[in-house]
Amino acid sequence: MKIAGKVEMEDLPRICPLLSRRTNPRYGEAQTRVVQVGRVRFGGEHPIVIAGPCAVESREQTLEVARAVKGSGADMLRGGAYKPRTSPHDFQGLGLEGLKFLREAANETGLPMVTEVMDPRLVEQVSEYADMLQIGSRNMQNYPLLIEAGRAGKPVLLKRGMAASLCEWLGAAEYIANEGNLEIVLCERGIKAYPSGEYSRYSLDLTVLAAARAETFLPVIVDPSHATGVAAMVEPASRAAIEFGSQGLIIEVASDRLDASTPRCDAAQAISPRTLRRIIHFIETRQEYFVEKVHAA
Ligand code: PEP
Ligand code: MN
Repeated sequence: MKIAGKVEMEDLPRICPLLSRRTNPRYGEAQTRVVQVGRVRFGGEHPIVIAGPCAVESREQTLEVARAVKGSGADMLRGGAYKPRTSPHDFQGLGLEGLKFLREAANETGLPMVTEVMDPRLVEQVSEYADMLQIGSRNMQNYPLLIEAGRAGKPVLLKRGMAASLCEWLGAAEYIANEGNLEIVLCERGIKAYPSGEYSRYSLDLTVLAAARAETFLPVIVDPSHATGVAAMVEPASRAAIEFGSQGLIIEVASDRLDASTPRCDAAQAISPRTLRRIIHFIETRQEYFVEKVHAA
């Protein structure tokens, strides 16, 4: 018996005809549509690593962390100029000034840059500086924001809402696609589940990767930093995500070379550039193994 109003996986071709594999048979059962951000290719030959601070705090910090993640081998730079904080009394980000620091760091390192936009009225401003727009977990179902982001002419990194089903997540992506923008990368970042907050910040849902890849041709990446909230868990979570077929990672990094090296935002989950290097090395060796396996087959 079909219960009225219940969202079912069978409904996906109706909810997201632009993005569902079933309604776009040219992508077959496994092909990913490559999303290009500068030279970076999500869904291409190898997993993409985005890294940088949680929040832009100063010019010095942004340049320092950007240089460090570049040195560790990252493909792209991240950083928040507009921060979604639980309390309005917490640091909210540097706004426009932060966007300028990020742009400078991106230009200097040559790393394309992704940053969050939270307000439909700021999509134009953020698009002037960013190479890719990030829609955060808290805004995944902010439909006016999704529509504006879809019209901005920039690739979009769409994080999964922390309590969103796969259907809701793909439905949100469809809003962007419906504006003529298929340059969308999905990002699993942990969901609220029974033990969330007890020993990790959220629950990293790696099983959604296979389901998302089966249902859509969009690339899917993982954020091990917000999912775990614990620096020591970021490296193993990154490795697990790659083993589950993640097409990239977005990771928060703090520089240990700065005098005031404790970030003002999400300090407990920030890893060092050296740990980032190890994660990237794991991907590179895993990739060699994978390529060898394909050639041997
Ligand atoms: C972020 O990446 O800076 C962030 C706030 O992540 P999320 O929206 O997943 O909480
Ligand atoms: Mn953060």
